[in-house]
Amino acid sequence: MDYSTKNFGKMNGGKRSLNLFFSKNNFIGSFNAIDIIPNNNKPECCFVGRSNVGKSSIINAITKSKKLAKTSKTPGRTQSINLFKINDMINIVDMPGYGYAKVSKIKREELNNLIEAYIVNRANLLQVFVLIDCKVGVKDVDIDIFDSISAAEKKFSIILTKSDKCASNFIVEQQKSIFSLMRNYNNNFLKIHSTSSNKNIGIIDIQKVIFNLSTHHEI
Ligand code: GDP
Repeated sequence: MDYSTKNFGKMNGGKRSLNLFFSKNNFIGSFNAIDIIPNNNKPECCFVGRSNVGKSSIINAITKSKKLAKTSKTPGRTQSINLFKINDMINIVDMPGYGYAKVSKIKREELNNLIEAYIVNRANLLQVFVLIDCKVGVKDVDIDIFDSISAAEKKFSIILTKSDKCASNFIVEQQKSIFSLMRNYNNNFLKIHSTSSNKNIGIIDIQKVIFNLSTHHEI
C-alpha cells in the first residue's frame, strides 16, 4: 500500500488505511526517569502541553482507540512518560502535562526537568507536537518548551486544540499571532495544525505526518 503524501488526495483521502495503521497499537510502558525508557530503535514523536489542553483526547482521536489515553490517565501515570507503539513502526509518546496549578512548585519543576531531559536526550525523537488550547493561546510555560526544543535542535509543530470552541476568525487571529512568535524559532518550527478531537477536525493531517515519520529508517 502506498501511503505517500501525494496519494492521500484520492478516494477517501487515505482515511481508512490510516485508521487501520493507527489502530494497531500497544502500550509499551510508563516511565518516570529518562534512563529507564527502553529504546526499540523506532522513530518517535511526542505530545506535550499544559494540563487539560486535550492531549489524551487527541491521542485517542489519532489512534481511534479509547484504550490508549485511558492507560495514560491511570493514577500515577499522568506524571510519567507513557510510550505507545504504532504498527510496530513508530512510537508515540504522551508526556506529562505541565503548568498544573494544583501541583507543588517543586513537583512542577521536577516535571519540567523530566520533559526537558527527554527532549534533549532522546536520540530517536524526530518531532515534538506542542498542544495549545485555541481559546487560551500561548502561555509563558509553552514558550519555555519552545526554547527547550530549539536548544535541543529538535523539530516541532503546534497543534491548536478544541477549535470547535472558537469562531473561525478567532482561530485565524490566534494562528497569526503564533506565526509571528514562531519567527524566533525558524530553524525548528514546522507548522500549525488546527484541530478538534470532538469534531474530528484536522486529525487526519496529523496521522499523515506521523505516518510519514514512521517510514524513516530505524534509528
Ligand atoms: P489532557 O489533560 O491534556 O489529557 O486533556 P483531556 O484530553 O483530558 O481534555 C481535557 C478536557 O478538554 C476534557 O474535558 C475534554 O472533554 C475537553 N476536550 C478535549 N478535546 C476537546 C475538543 O476537541 N473540543 C472540546 N470542546 N473539548 C475538548
